[in-house]
Amino acid sequence: MSDNRRDFLKKGTLLGLSGLASALIGKDKMDKLEEVSNQLENTPAFKLPKLPYAYDALEPFIDKQTMEIHYTKHHAAYVNKLNETPSTNIDYMSDDATKCKQLDKLASPVIRNNLGGHVNHSLFWILLKPNPQSAVNLPSGKIAEAITKDFKSFEEFKKEFTEKATKIFGSGWCWLIVQNGKLKITTTPNQDNPYMQFATDRGTPVLALDIWEHAYYLKYQNKRADYINNWWNIVNWETAEKLFTTK
Ligand code: MN
Repeated sequence: MSDNRRDFLKKGTLLGLSGLASALIGKDKMDKLEEVSNQLENTPAFKLPKLPYAYDALEPFIDKQTMEIHYTKHHAAYVNKLNETPSTNIDYMSDDATKCKQLDKLASPVIRNNLGGHVNHSLFWILLKPNPQSAVNLPSGKIAEAITKDFKSFEEFKKEFTEKATKIFGSGWCWLIVQNGKLKITTTPNQDNPYMQFATDRGTPVLALDIWEHAYYLKYQNKRADYINNWWNIVNWETAEKLFTTK
């Protein structure tokens, strides 16, 4: 447990014992603090999920070094920062999507960025397919049907997604989401995601593409379009189908 978490727990416990503290900071706030302390005590900290394949499993489309740095440095940093920064705004017992939904516009930027960073990368990894085949990588099943229904054809969908991802200004994410039963392509800045209340388009993600330079710069430098075009070869449509049918 980090020092910050320990201090936070200690503070919560002390406040819980003190009627004076209760009077000073207000009973509601104290109850909430105590509740979060209890949750933290009983909940494991955020954990870096295991990468379900080797760092070189996405070669030649995403290189080994990028994967290793992305996972062990970037994603790990989001997780560590979250664990160092306990928040009274998060129900630690809830799932990732619910935790994101709980954030409002006034949420601390540290929580917003690092919770988003953790949740987004957790999705990104499982939506990549290791050991890419030489055959064209296409969706099948219910998600394929829905794409054809909502975008006219897979080619139309791919064109719109590629265009929106390429045009993101600065760092962000491109998503395929389910919104009111329909598929929609949307983007978010920084580490925001479509679960968050303040997202332009809210919904359940079924595809996630990281457009931060750290996701492609070592191999592709300024050629973001090449990274995106190559990403289509390693989309894990089986995972997308699962996310789509269990949304
Ligand atoms: Mn990233």
